Amino acid sequence: CSRCQRRHRGLPEAAEAQASRGPGRRGPGPGPDAGSLTKQAERTVATDWKKKLTPEQFYVTRQKGTEPPFSGIYLNNTEPGIYYCLCCNAPLFSSEKKYDSGTGWPSFSEAYGTCGRDESNTNIMRRPDNSLGSTRTEVICKQCDAHLGHVFDDGPAPSRQRFCINSLSLNFKRGSSR
Ligand SMILES: [Zn+2]
Repeated sequence: CSRCQRRHRGLPEAAEAQASRGPGRRGPGPGPDAGSLTKQAERTVATDWKKKLTPEQFYVTRQKGTEPPFSGIYLNNTEPGIYYCLCCNAPLFSSEKKYDSGTGWPSFSEAYGTCGRDESNTNIMRRPDNSLGSTRTEVICKQCDAHLGHVFDDGPAPSRQRFCINSLSLNFKRGSSR
């Protein structure tokens, strides 16, 4: 019938069209301008942080500063809830894994979303930090690069991790800690 014929005739045409689009042609990928655009965005973000944050918050989260020990508002907070990134609101730590390390900074034995030793579903990233003449591991927010603190391996069992985090990097919201 004419409908079948039309359909049969249509098929090779479509296949041909697909073939000619082939692997040789690419969609709008990262061109030569992508790099400068990213840098532009970073500059904009950096400016915004300064407006958005207090000088102390800016110093800690954006300039890798450290709040004085025993000064942070969350040091002795034992309420159930989640600690979010001050800058971008990503959930970082749960009150369930908070403990008193005696160091003067809020301490956690693991990041929110950790599964066993797997931190791929958390919002934190580790980065080597060789400042102050020692090798430490910096903890930053995966989403916005905010400096949060450092992680050491002298924490409680079973993780043995001690996330030593600045209160100034965090925003606590009371509620479910899961
Ligand atoms: Zn963040």
